[in-house]
Amino acid sequence: MIKTLICIDRDGTLIHDEKEHLYLGRDNEWKAKVRILPYVIDGIKALNRIPGSAIYMITNQPGVAISEFPLLTVERAHEVCRYVISEIKGLGGRIDGYSLCPHADRSYLESHLKYHFDEQLVCDCDCIKPGLGMVFDALKAEGVTRQNVNVFVIGDRVTDVQTALNIGGTGIFVPFENEQGQEDNVKKIADQSRIYIARNMLDAAEFISQSHH
Ligand SMILES: [Mg+2]
Ligand SMILES: [Zn+2]
Repeated sequence: MIKTLICIDRDGTLIHDEKEHLYLGRDNEWKAKVRILPYVIDGIKALNRIPGSAIYMITNQPGVAISEFPLLTVERAHEVCRYVISEIKGLGGRIDGYSLCPHADRSYLESHLKYHFDEQLVCDCDCIKPGLGMVFDALKAEGVTRQNVNVFVIGDRVTDVQTALNIGGTGIFVPFENEQGQEDNVKKIADQSRIYIARNMLDAAEFISQSHH
């Protein structure tokens, strides 16, 4: 049984993302756009050395709900996730599983008025971060309950940090160049006691390792 669950965001944390988002998988050339970010492999390897730890990738993929991207189906989004994990594995890093949220919520629609959305995928679901659906998926996959594990969530957005706080875990913010302003938002969260602002994924991993002595 694991003692530590580490959930990691995908876009802008494990792999490069564009300012307006890549929506990976919306074209057929998406594999060429998968670029693992610096320190990610070393960070994952360091996390893999923590006894009793599991690593899950959790990713909001609202692009699946955008009508202008017909190739970005739920199945395609899964294919992209599996490919990212296999690329990381090829470089020596183990990720134990993943979940994705294919939904767009109301606030996403309001901030992306240039797109049309598939109504069946527009909802205020439990899985979209900072909701906890994907963290619970990981706990379930590992056969553990929340009470028996330490939970960390690593990401480049305030919603990743908030996900950690919502489950009573620790949020680790790793800044990404194309997500400006997120660090200020993280610093505005009232309770900073369960937040760590890391320099990169390796720093994030070392922070988690040290909190386990
Ligand atoms: Mg991100
Ligand atoms: Zn969802």
